[in-house]
Amino acid sequence: MNRLFDKKESWTNEERKTRQDESLSGMVKLGYEKSARLKQIFDTNKINPLNIKCREDLEKLPVTSREKLVDMEMQETPYAGLENSAMPIDRIFTSPGPVYEPHLSEDDHLWARAFFAAGIGPKDIALNAFSYHLVAAGLTFHSGLRKVGATVVPSGTSSSQIQVQLIQDLKVTAYVGTPSFLSSIIVKAGEMGFDFKKDFRLKKACFAAEPLFPDMRRSFEKDYGIDTYQMYGATEVGDVAYECSQKNGWHICEETIVEIVDPATGKNVAPGELGEIVVTRLNDIFFLLRFGTGDLSRIIIDECPCGRTSYRIAGISGRIGDAVKVRGLFIAPSQLKMIQSKFNNLPLQANVSRVGNDDVLKVRVEKISPEIGTPAWENNFKKIFREICTVKIDQMEYLSAGMIKPEEKLIVDQRQW
Ligand SMILES: [Zn+2]
Repeated sequence: MNRLFDKKESWTNEERKTRQDESLSGMVKLGYEKSARLKQIFDTNKINPLNIKCREDLEKLPVTSREKLVDMEMQETPYAGLENSAMPIDRIFTSPGPVYEPHLSEDDHLWARAFFAAGIGPKDIALNAFSYHLVAAGLTFHSGLRKVGATVVPSGTSSSQIQVQLIQDLKVTAYVGTPSFLSSIIVKAGEMGFDFKKDFRLKKACFAAEPLFPDMRRSFEKDYGIDTYQMYGATEVGDVAYECSQKNGWHICEETIVEIVDPATGKNVAPGELGEIVVTRLNDIFFLLRFGTGDLSRIIIDECPCGRTSYRIAGISGRIGDAVKVRGLFIAPSQLKMIQSKFNNLPLQANVSRVGNDDVLKVRVEKISPEIGTPAWENNFKKIFREICTVKIDQMEYLSAGMIKPEEKLIVDQRQW
C-alpha cells in the first residue's frame, strides 16, 4: 500500500515552492482578466498582477477576513465578483453570514488527502455525519471519502439514535463529523444497550469544525478503541491541513498556500511564531487571495517521520477578533447587530462557555420593555436568532436596563483553548 496520497506529498520544499509559485502567478493573471473585483483590488492598491510571482509577493495584497467577504458579497451577490464568470459552477454552498461559495472543480482533491492520511480506503464504510443541507461540509467530505474509495453512508444530521442504528446495521468502520456529535452517539449507544468498543466495528474517526480536546481524544482512543484524526479547512477555501498518523501537527494541503501573519499588519511572522492562518487556495474558479481565517496557529517546519514533506500547522490556538465558533458554526458580531436591529436596538450580548465537551450559548438581553422575557417574546426571539445565526440558544438571561455597557463586546468567549 502506498504511504502517500500522491507524489506531491513528497516533493522537496524547493520543488513545492516552485510549482506553487507558478500556480499562484497563473491564478493571479487569470483572476485579473476574469474577475472585475480582483482587477479593482489590484488597481486600487496599485499592484501590477505580473508582479505577484511567488508566495512572498502575497504580502503586497490585503488579507480578506470572513467579515469583509460577507460585506463584499452583500455589495455584489453572490460571490463579490471574485468568481471566474467563464467557468461553469456545479454547486453553490452557503455558510452563516450569509456568505456564498462556488464549489471547486469535481477534480479537486478536497479532503481526500486527509482521509488517506487517516488510513481510510476502499475497505471502509464511512458514516458522514456532517450536514448535507446548504453548507459545504456534507458534500465535500462525501466526495473526499469517495476519492479514497470508501463507501459513504450520508447520515448527515440524523438523530444519534439513527446514527447508532446505521453503525450497527451497516457495519460502519469510520466516522466523519464533529467530536461532540460522536460523543453523543456513544452515549446514545450505551443507552440503547450496546458496548461501543465490543459491538461495533467503528475504529476510525475524522473530525473537523470543532476542536478536539486532549481528554476527549484520550477517551475516544482508550475507552472506545477509535483512532482519531483532525482535519482543518474553511468553506471559503476548502481543505487546508490534516493530521497524519504521527498526530503532531497538521500537514498543509498541497493545493493551498498557508501564511501565518500578524493580524495587525498582514505580514508573515517568523517561523514558529503564533499568528493568523491566512489561506490562498490555488484554483481557477474563485479568486479569493489571502483569506484570513481568524484562527491562530504557528508553523512547524521540521520534517515529519510520516514521509510527507509539507510544513505543518500546530493546531488552532484560538480566534482573533470577535467572531467565535459555537458547535462548529461561526457567530459574527454583524449577525448580532442584525438581530438588535430587528428588536428595536435591543442591548444584548452572546456568551459562549463550555460544560464538559459541549459549547453552551447564553444570550443576555436587557429588559428595556415589559414584554421582553415573556414566553411569547422569548420564543420569537429564539426563532429569529436561529434564523440569523443558525445556532440554537441554550440559555437566556434577562438584565435590567443599562447593565450591558456600550464598550462591552457583543460576543464573549469564555472557553479555554
Ligand atoms: Zn506527517
